[in-house]
Amino acid sequence: AREKLSDIVTSFLDIVHDRLVSDRRGAVADYIPQLADADPELFGIALCGLNGRVYESGDTGVEFTIQSVSKPFVYSLALDDQGLDAVHDRVGAEPSGEAFNSVKLEAGTGRPPNPMVNAGAIVTTSLVSGRSTEDRFARILARLSAFAGRDLRVDDAVLASEQTSGDRNRALAYLMHGAGSLTTPVLDTLDTYFRQCSVLVTARDIAVMGATLANGGVNPVTGRRVTSAETCQHVMTIMATCGMYDYAGEWLLRAGLPAKSGVAGGLVASSPGEFGLGLFSPRLDSSGASVRGVAAAQQLATRFGLHVLHRP
Ligand code: GLN
Repeated sequence: AREKLSDIVTSFLDIVHDRLVSDRRGAVADYIPQLADADPELFGIALCGLNGRVYESGDTGVEFTIQSVSKPFVYSLALDDQGLDAVHDRVGAEPSGEAFNSVKLEAGTGRPPNPMVNAGAIVTTSLVSGRSTEDRFARILARLSAFAGRDLRVDDAVLASEQTSGDRNRALAYLMHGAGSLTTPVLDTLDTYFRQCSVLVTARDIAVMGATLANGGVNPVTGRRVTSAETCQHVMTIMATCGMYDYAGEWLLRAGLPAKSGVAGGLVASSPGEFGLGLFSPRLDSSGASVRGVAAAQQLATRFGLHVLHRP
């Protein structure tokens, strides 16, 4: 019976994969050459159940940079280090209705709108504890690796490119530092943020990361506790309201799952108490989310009645 279920799940992933592989809408991110070089045809779908089994279709073992998919997981670390109130003294919890790199800050306080847009993620990164910049990043990498269930590493070429082309993020960080919402040194904090965006993952990795959130903080593959159930609840709330930037409302309406997109084409979604979904395909829509990733998640969610507000 166990074999049967896995065949059913895998064949459904294959159906969704085959249906969407001909969808060539969107464009690969081109703000740095390393991302523009990505093979636009890649497409992987991975689903990790809370029993630790991973079902896969397509290019689920190909590495890509995590980019903004890192944000909810680093937010979990800031919450564990500082507590909910201290984190949200410095970053809001409201969907911005704006693009990921928006410069909109709260009047008066200079607080960024939420931890999922770049400005808020830079502040969130600054709230991770560490004796030094190196130690802070080591703790971030360890947290991302614990969520994925394997030791992750940084793509140095992407990192170098992020650093040379990161003027907008630098501008955001200086604005927040001037306003007092970012209190750590600007360049060190940005270096850590660029590093966190340059960590390599696969669709399979992010499925396991999403499943760990869905499982209340215990990685279902390694069996290790990564964070608390309470932190997972906070993280999934922010993913549900803000994870898809200016597409967040429509996303919640149509897919109904807490999720986070990244500009390299990764998309993670968590179905609480059920599973994690990891999607990868580099062509992006106008909100910076993977076109095939969004379509695949919506088809899976609709087919299985997974909307978090679904009550039969
Ligand atoms: N490295 C990218 C940036 O900071 C991440 C943005 C994203 O994935 N949406 O601009």
